[in-house]
Amino acid sequence: MAEQERTQVKADEIASTDVTADVDVVVVGLGVGGEETANRLAAAGLSVVGIERNLVGGECPFWGCVPSKIMIRAANALAEARRVDHLAGQARVEPDWSIVAKRIREEATAGWTDDAGVERFTSKGGRFVRGSGRLVGPGLVRVGDETFRARVGVVLGTGTTPVIPPVPGLAGTPYWTNREAMELAELPGSVVVLGGGAIGAEVAQVLARFGVRVGMVEAGERVLAQEEPESSERVAAALRADGVTVHTGARAERVEHDDSGFTVHLADGDRLRGERLLVATGRRAVLDTLGLETVGLDPTRRFVETDDRMRAGDGIWAVGDLTGHGAFTHVAMYQAGIAIDDILRRAGVLDEAAGERRADYRALPRVTFTDPEVGAVGLTERQARDRGLNVRTSLTPLSESSRGWIHQVGDEGFIKLVADVDRGVLVGATSAGPVGGEVLSALAVAVHAEVPVSTLAGMIYAYPTFHRAIETAVRGLLR
Ligand SMILES: Cc1cc2nc3c(=O)[nH]c(=O)nc-3n(C[C@H](O)[C@H](O)[C@H](O)COP(=O)(O)OP(=O)(O)OC[C@H]3O[C@@H](n4cnc5c(N)ncnc54)[C@H](O)[C@@H]3O)c2cc1C
Repeated sequence: MAEQERTQVKADEIASTDVTADVDVVVVGLGVGGEETANRLAAAGLSVVGIERNLVGGECPFWGCVPSKIMIRAANALAEARRVDHLAGQARVEPDWSIVAKRIREEATAGWTDDAGVERFTSKGGRFVRGSGRLVGPGLVRVGDETFRARVGVVLGTGTTPVIPPVPGLAGTPYWTNREAMELAELPGSVVVLGGGAIGAEVAQVLARFGVRVGMVEAGERVLAQEEPESSERVAAALRADGVTVHTGARAERVEHDDSGFTVHLADGDRLRGERLLVATGRRAVLDTLGLETVGLDPTRRFVETDDRMRAGDGIWAVGDLTGHGAFTHVAMYQAGIAIDDILRRAGVLDEAAGERRADYRALPRVTFTDPEVGAVGLTERQARDRGLNVRTSLTPLSESSRGWIHQVGDEGFIKLVADVDRGVLVGATSAGPVGGEVLSALAVAVHAEVPVSTLAGMIYAYPTFHRAIETAVRGLLR
């Protein structure tokens, strides 16, 4: 029996008396991935119910990428102004957080409302329901007292939530997560940041550049533990240069909170005081409330497992952070594109003969927007060696490039390449520097398209650009 027919039979087994409406697709969670999927399926003419319990758009526009990058843009402007003394005379800088807070509140988030997002969906014919959606059987989703039956299938895009570590004394205190940090109207005098990942590092640097005393506690041996050790070193040095006290290999043993703020007791006896405490120790998918067991999926797993068409099961797709392939907006969008094609094919809207897109994470790019910005793609050196590849690496400091020398103050960064010698291609690369995330694009193409190292060595790189350091690093591989 064809897969499509099997889905239909299962759905038909469910008593129709409970069902509010029969539709083509139900999307649970209208964050980055879910919103894209719901909008495009509705625009393609499918009947779509979109369920969101909070704000349509999800974490990225309201409490993630967009507000944090607005903060970073402002903080980098301050840092650049402070570099005038070294390059062009004198500049007096008086930070004013209210400008940043106003821009986030008024321009970016419309006061944390989602009328525009709801309108984007409903104007395409989608039916929007505010509430928490839960699977109650194959093709069946309950929200409040309504149950929708999906003829083609259900898409899960419920994202992740902050991990709150079980540090004694922490629970019940008014600690911040990214939510409070992104809604910040006024700056406190001091903040302790728990966690030295991308979010912790970005926010710590912003706050320090605005004059907040910041202490960072990272349990691992280095900040940005997922990236190359050289990236960790550079970012830790940059944070320290901005006045952040960085404690690595430091376990928070206990937290105390009183009227004046927080004290974080470290295992080595050190103590950090902060008026506020930001918890940025990672994110996790919440799967145990989604009714996954009703469709034969395991709710105790860390993530929803998907195949390369984003199928989690028969008539069920998952996109975004909850799939565990990298908590990035571009991953959610990429996966949404693949799921949309597969769903349209299943619905008979896309021609079966049209080329199928399959998810491929070999050249996954990621950027930590600290200064220096750390862009990376594919495997780190460690990951490549752990896979048993015949690895050769090459690293070029930006300060040794013409552009780095010209740039002078603020030129910290490097290009690091990880090559698979046997295949003669790059399998990973890091581009740290003033515009590390932009320089990354050339490296992402090289890893994605498996451009031979010899081809990279034979092309022309514009002078004097930061990306020209790629050429020097490529030559380092050929030595
Ligand atoms: C501070 C910060 C900075 C970041 N910066 C970047 C960056 O610069 N670049 C980048 O690529 N990524 C960044 N990210 C990550 C990015 O925000 C996420 O990867 C992206 O939002 C994931 O999209 P998603 O669709 O998986 O989930 P989300 O955007 O989290 O959306 C999930 C939605 O599902 C809803 N939901 C959950 N359960 C239910 C339910 N049962 N019923 C109905 N609705 C439900 C939630 O309310 C939410 O709106 C950042 C994240 C943070 C926190």
